[in-house]
Amino acid sequence: MEQIREFWEKSNLIYLTKKDVTAISRKTGKKAADIVDTLYDYDGCYVKIKDLGGKVILDLPVMKSKEDTTCIFYREGCTVYSVRPIACRLFPFRVEEETLSNGDILLSINYNPTCPGIGKGKKVDKRMLEKLVVDQFLQRTEDITPHVQRLKAAGAISAQARIFRTLPGRQANRSSNSKKKDD
Ligand code: SF4
Repeated sequence: MEQIREFWEKSNLIYLTKKDVTAISRKTGKKAADIVDTLYDYDGCYVKIKDLGGKVILDLPVMKSKEDTTCIFYREGCTVYSVRPIACRLFPFRVEEETLSNGDILLSINYNPTCPGIGKGKKVDKRMLEKLVVDQFLQRTEDITPHVQRLKAAGAISAQARIFRTLPGRQANRSSNSKKKDD
C-alpha cells in the first residue's frame, strides 16, 4: 500500500508497545498522543478497518520524530534511556513479520547495516535478543487483540479480510532506505 510505504519513509521506525508508551509517559509526563505517531490520526486504537471490512490495517505506533526523522527524545544522548522502548534495546536488530498462507506469523530478525557499532563491543547474547523479540511481539499482540475481537464481534471485519501492517515485512527491502536511529 502506497500510504503505508510513505509512512515508512517519514518514520524513524521505532515501534512502540503500550508498555513502552506507559513507561515513557510516566517518566516524562507526556501524554501518549505526544509520544506516538501512527499512519492514521491517533485515537488510541491501533486497528483500522477499510473497504467495508475487507481490509484490516494494524496501525502500529512508532515514536514521534523531529523534522529530520530522529527521535524526539534524543538530545546529545537518550533522555529516556532507563525506559527506552524494546525496539531501542534491540537496535541495530529489528523484527520483521510475515503472515504465511496458513495464517501463521513468521518473525525474522534483520539488522540495520548503517549502525556504526556493528562489529564492536561484546558479542550479542542470542537468548536475550530472542527474548526481546518475543516480548515485543507478545506485547503488540496484547495491544491489538482486544480491538480485533471487538470489531469482529460488531461484524465490522469480513471473513475474507486482508491484513496489512505498518510494520515492514520481509517483502519490502528496507535495508537501503531505513532511517538510522540516532544513537
Ligand atoms: S534510545 Fe534513541 S531512539 Fe530510543 S528512545 Fe532513546 S533517543 Fe529515542
